[in-house]
Amino acid sequence: MWQKNKVYDVVVCGAGPAGFAAAIAAARCGAAVLLLEQAARPGGVAVTCGCPGLMGCAIGERQLASGIGEELIRRLDEIGAVSFKHCLIRPLAGQPLHEDVISSEFAIALMMNRMLQQDGVDLLYYCTLYGCQTAGRKITAVDCFCAGEQLRISGKAFVDCTGDAILAKLAGYPVCAADPDDSMTKTVLFQVSNLQPFSRQELRTRFTTLQKTFPFPNQDHLMLHPVGDGGAYLLNITLTAGDPLDPADLTRMDIELREQIPQILQWLRDNFPEFKDCVLDSSAARIGVRNGRQILGRKTITCSDLNDNTPVAEPVALGRRGYGGHGGNAFIQNWAQSNPGTRGIPYGALLSPAGDNLAVGGRAISIEPRAISAIRLMLQCFASGQAAGVIAAMTANQGRLPDYPSLRTVLLQQNLLLE
Ligand SMILES: Cc1cc2nc3c(=O)[nH]c(=O)nc-3n(C[C@H](O)[C@H](O)[C@H](O)COP(=O)(O)OP(=O)(O)OC[C@H]3O[C@@H](n4cnc5c(N)ncnc54)[C@H](O)[C@@H]3O)c2cc1C
Repeated sequence: MWQKNKVYDVVVCGAGPAGFAAAIAAARCGAAVLLLEQAARPGGVAVTCGCPGLMGCAIGERQLASGIGEELIRRLDEIGAVSFKHCLIRPLAGQPLHEDVISSEFAIALMMNRMLQQDGVDLLYYCTLYGCQTAGRKITAVDCFCAGEQLRISGKAFVDCTGDAILAKLAGYPVCAADPDDSMTKTVLFQVSNLQPFSRQELRTRFTTLQKTFPFPNQDHLMLHPVGDGGAYLLNITLTAGDPLDPADLTRMDIELREQIPQILQWLRDNFPEFKDCVLDSSAARIGVRNGRQILGRKTITCSDLNDNTPVAEPVALGRRGYGGHGGNAFIQNWAQSNPGTRGIPYGALLSPAGDNLAVGGRAISIEPRAISAIRLMLQCFASGQAAGVIAAMTANQGRLPDYPSLRTVLLQQNLLLE
C-alpha cells in the first residue's frame, strides 16, 4: 500500500501497458516504486477501452515480445486466459510467440495486479494526476486528486506513461499533438454474442462487398475478434474523427460513437444471417484514442527513420518499421507504409530535453505523429515502458540519467530485446 509521506525512488503515472511494465522494471532494479492510475484497474486501453488483443508479438517468424510483456502473456497462458487472436486454439505452453494473442479485460487486470504486488510496487488507483512541482531541471512531486482529496506525492525520478504525455506537459516540457490529418480515427469498441457459426475469411469478404452500403463512409475492414471461450466477439468497427485532447470534442465523439453501435448491429442483423440473433454484451467504458500527445524528445523517431535501414544508435527497446492506421483520412490514404521488419527505439525518444529525472514510455514517446503505429501496439508499449522504468530507477539511484552502456546492461539482464 502507498505511504502518504514517503519520498518514492520512482513514481510511475499511468498504469497502461507501459506504466505496468515501467513499475515492475523499476522495482526489479531495487527502487521503491509507486504506480498511480486514474482508473480502478491497471491495463490502460486494453481494459478501459475494452481491447484485450495483445498485438505486436511477432513479425513473421520473429518473436518481438520480450521482457515483462512476454512474461505477462505467459502468466496469462498459465491460467488459461490466452488464445491466438484469429482462432480459439489455446497455444503457448512454452512455445515461441509467433502470433498476436487475445485475452480478456478481467484476466489482464487481474494478472497485472498479481505481478505488480509480487514485485512490491505500491499501488494507488482512483487517483488522477493534475499538477506537478519542479525545481530546476527536475520534477520533485506530482499532485493528484482522489475523491475530493488533493495528494502531493514526492519522488526522486518519474515516469510518464499516461499515454498523452500529461506529466511532461504539466512540467512545462515541450510536447506535440497530431494534426487531424495525421491522426487516426477514434473508436468505441463493443462485444456481441449469440452469433451463428461462420468462416472468418468468408465473412470478411462479404463485409467488404456490403460495406459500400454502410452509413459510415470511413469504415475499416471487419475487425472481429473472438473473446474468451463463451462465443463472444469484439467488434472494432465504430469510427469518427476529432480532437482527443479537447473534452468537448471527446464528449461529442463518445455520444456519436455509441449512437453508431445500435445502427451497426441492425445493419449486421439485416445483412448477415450469422448476426441475425446477435446480442450486445457490453461497450467500452471509454472512447479509444489511438494517438493523443507526444513529448518532443532528445531524439524524435520520424517516418524517414522508419524507411531507412541504418541501425539506430542507443536502442532501448524494439519497435517496428511499418506505420499506418485506421480510417480514411489523408494520413491513411497518403502516408501509410507497411515497411517490413523492426527498428530499435532510441534512448533519446524517451527523454525530454527539458528535464533530467523524467522518462516517458508507451504511445507518448517522441515520434512524428504519423509514424506512431511503429510504437503504439501493446507489446511495443510494454517494451518502451520497461525501458523507461529502468531509466528512472537508475536515475533515482545515481542522481543523474544513466549512461547508455550501463543502461543497456540492465535492459538485457531484464530480457528486453533491443534490436
Ligand atoms: C480503439 C483502439 C484499439 C486498439 N487495439 C489494439 C489491439 O488490438 N492490439 C494492440 O496491441 N494495441 C491496440 N491498440 C493500441 C494500444 O492499446 C495502445 O497504444 C496502448 O495501450 C498504449 O499504451 P500506453 O501504456 O502508452 O497508454 P494507455 O494504454 O493509454 O494507458 C495510459 C494510462 O494512463 C492513465 N492516465 C491517463 N491520464 C491520467 C491521469 N491524469 N492521472 C492518472 N492516470 C492517468 C489512463 O487511465 C491509462 O490507464 C488500440 C488502441 C485503441 C485506441
